[in-house]
Amino acid sequence: MIESIMQRLGVVDTRYRDGDYAVTSPTDGGELGRVRLESGERVQARIDRAQAAFEAWRRVPAPRRGELVRLFGEQLRRHKEDLGTLVTLECGKIYQEGLGEVQEMIDICDLAVGQSRQLYGLTIASERPGHHMRESWHPLGPIGLITAFNFPVAPWAWNAALALVCGNSLLWKPSEKTPLCALACQALLERAMAEFGDEAPADLSQVIIGEREAGEVLTDDPRVPLISATGSTRMGREVAPRVAARFGRSILELGGNNAMILAPSADLDMAVRAILFSAVGTAGQRCTTLRRLIVHESVRDEVVERIKKAYAGVSIGDPMGGSLVGPLIDAQAFDQMQSVLGTAREQGAKVFGGERRLADEYPDGYYVAPAIVEVDRQDELVKHETFAPILYVMSYRGFDEALALQNDVPQGLSSCVFTTDVREAEAFVSDVGSDCGIANVNIGPSGAEIGGAFGGEKDTGGGRESGSDVWKSYMRRQTNTVNYSRELPLAQGIKFD
Ligand code: NAD
Repeated sequence: MIESIMQRLGVVDTRYRDGDYAVTSPTDGGELGRVRLESGERVQARIDRAQAAFEAWRRVPAPRRGELVRLFGEQLRRHKEDLGTLVTLECGKIYQEGLGEVQEMIDICDLAVGQSRQLYGLTIASERPGHHMRESWHPLGPIGLITAFNFPVAPWAWNAALALVCGNSLLWKPSEKTPLCALACQALLERAMAEFGDEAPADLSQVIIGEREAGEVLTDDPRVPLISATGSTRMGREVAPRVAARFGRSILELGGNNAMILAPSADLDMAVRAILFSAVGTAGQRCTTLRRLIVHESVRDEVVERIKKAYAGVSIGDPMGGSLVGPLIDAQAFDQMQSVLGTAREQGAKVFGGERRLADEYPDGYYVAPAIVEVDRQDELVKHETFAPILYVMSYRGFDEALALQNDVPQGLSSCVFTTDVREAEAFVSDVGSDCGIANVNIGPSGAEIGGAFGGEKDTGGGRESGSDVWKSYMRRQTNTVNYSRELPLAQGIKFD
């Protein structure tokens, strides 16, 4: 199957079959391909070429740059099923979610095409007669993109589509666990470039196959003015100071520890459905996965019973075969989950689920039953992001207590409240409510739309991607003062003669 998919997506055999680094599928541990990891010198050479490509691309008018992104969006529409399948095979999320990820890529292309005609600045009043002031936005340079395994294509596209219309070239280091998805995206973009014609320089977009060391070459190079990195908080702690040391900019999209406050007035049917999707979807391996349920004590028992029932009915298995929950990415993720559940038990928590499934059928695929862990308090274990389907449940009495619990973790990505009380809903999204980058009412924490800015505060890194005015992150701001008079007045009325 992989050969025909890669062929249709336009990835040549030598790119994914001739290397010595094995790429395996989490679905069954089977080998999907063999890629070559790139040396530091090769990455340096790519940065040289990205610089040359940038110098040509920034001269192309922005709406024309948008046309390239439009053509890329067309390629994605045409190959949605193949790319969605590849996402499923390489990172293990179910096919519906694989398709959803490609749809997000299409959506951001649409947004970026429109944005390419709206890279606007300001006109500003000058205090001096015969002067104009304005603010303009210019392309930045080669953009370094580092991405995580669990969303192998969409976050790249959020960055790439906007960065391209803003006049930049791209250097993408995908997760070493999902290089084939990156090669496929690159092949589709190259097809769009061929259709677009000569104005698009050959090295406008490049993929760097490698582990963290390849990412470090990017983070340390002053020719890469912006590093946009998606991954763990550990990775962000390493990347941020290195980029800052050379006065580069970074967009950091790091770990989350997302909560739902479930109030007694909530529509419980809706809440339970939202919990199910956001806690077990992608086998708990979304940055926005629901990890903490803060439920009012008066409905706690009922809610826990209903979630357990819903969990018992969830189909776990082959992500291409219509199940709702696919595998964890690898054995290490499984071991981590088991170790955390073991600690929770030792600490007296009540643990439901969490055991391995389908081990006989898939000895090298790590399928698990999603776990519910009932805790009395929010201790260090709960405050840590474990990248697996573990839902901690704790109860509250007053809404202020619930808000305090929601905010009392190091991460600040996504959050939500289920309530029909307008005071609680508004308090949650107010200045003194949720401290996260995303705060939803009567919607779970995962499944964001492209139009809004995506990202979070605190240990989540503070970056924003996708919609709103995020395009500005991929450009440099310039303030212009133009004197069209015959005098040379100084600002602040200073006399210098
Ligand atoms: P990871 O941190 O292990 O790796 C992410 C990427 O960073 C990989 O490409 C890796 O090679 C690279 N990398 C690691 N150390 C590096 C370094 N020192 N310098 C340069 N590059 C380095 O993360 P993962 O296991 O692939 O993904 C899961 C994590 O990503 C979770 O914590 C999840 O919450 C987070 N995530 C966040 C978002 C978001 O938008 N906030 C989205 C997806 C995933």
